Amino acid sequence: PAPSNSPVIKLIHKGVVHRICAGQVILDLSSAVKELVENSLDAGATSIEVALKEYGEESFQVIDNGCGILPNNFKVVALKHHTSKLADFSDLQSLTTFGFRGEALSSLCALGNLTVETRTANESVATHLTFDHSGLLIAEKKTARQVGTTVTVKKLFSNLPVRSKEFRRNIRKEYGKLISLMNAYALTAKGVRLVCSNTTGKNAKSLVVKTQGSGSLKDNIIQVFGMNMFSCLEPVSICISDGCKVEGFLSKSGQGSGRNLGDRQYFFVNGRPVDMPKVSKLVNELYKGANSRQYPIAIMNFTVPTRACDVNVTPDKRKVFFSDESLILQSLREGLQQVYSSSNANFFVNKVE
Ligand code: ADP
Ligand code: MG
Repeated sequence: PAPSNSPVIKLIHKGVVHRICAGQVILDLSSAVKELVENSLDAGATSIEVALKEYGEESFQVIDNGCGILPNNFKVVALKHHTSKLADFSDLQSLTTFGFRGEALSSLCALGNLTVETRTANESVATHLTFDHSGLLIAEKKTARQVGTTVTVKKLFSNLPVRSKEFRRNIRKEYGKLISLMNAYALTAKGVRLVCSNTTGKNAKSLVVKTQGSGSLKDNIIQVFGMNMFSCLEPVSICISDGCKVEGFLSKSGQGSGRNLGDRQYFFVNGRPVDMPKVSKLVNELYKGANSRQYPIAIMNFTVPTRACDVNVTPDKRKVFFSDESLILQSLREGLQQVYSSSNANFFVNKVE
């Protein structure tokens, strides 16, 4: 018989698999920084500083005053699927941390050059750690630092040629996306000082986002967007079911943001910034009845029992599944209809809370 042209099936080399998967966790600059900021929040930091060089193209660094990393963990911290946050599958149902898959540091190793400086309260000096592309610890030296962790990534995507080109071509857009994401964390983090800066060429550092970290969503909105913007919003609080509610702020009917669709819309599930296209669509639709010329600003947090939602849907954790999505959307629709019908009376009235 003629030789078969059916191809041979082979196992992909481990290093190649790692690079393929890493590219799904770390999609772009903002998803890279997001992972590091979330790690700092998970470490209990009350101060987080994000420092970019050349809009992140050269390097980015996240500096925190969190709990630090224990010396025993140095060898495994950047290995794939190594985490201090999840031990059992059932832990997913009671998740209170941003991270849980142990993929961020290992993915960043695969896609750039990763170094970590860290110190816990048990140590008198800090340690500087260098990792290779597979997440192995290749160098370790003592250094001076306060308790906390600094993670630095240089030359992200330098070994994914297409992504790297995209990154450089879209750097301003990527940077804008990052700022919007930093705003989301500044809105949701309670009692955390958050600073983001960028340095280009020989120019001095410029600050782009800065919050002092107050205790309430209202104060955070005022810090991030200013009092003028806040005065255009009205509070919403909608009870969905036992232990399940939506709280936040929405544009008053005559005072939308007037900009692009989705601009200044921030959605959170139990404080985690997520994409909620269906909620956004619903808010826009109902707002249209009150104001057809503009889009509403929306900053809303959904409090849902952890067992009733699943954030383990996409590698970047921006998507959430709910056990009863239709109930949530229906309650939201009814609640918002009330908000906009009662505020119709205040049409174009600028009322400060
Ligand atoms: P995950 O967050 O899913 O656990 P990561 O790869 O992001 O996975 O981080 C791996 C582990 O490294 C974390 O579980 C945590 O123990 C530790 N870690 C990472 N960043 C920090 C930090 N900024 N401060 C303290 N520990 C950290
Ligand atoms: Mg993490």
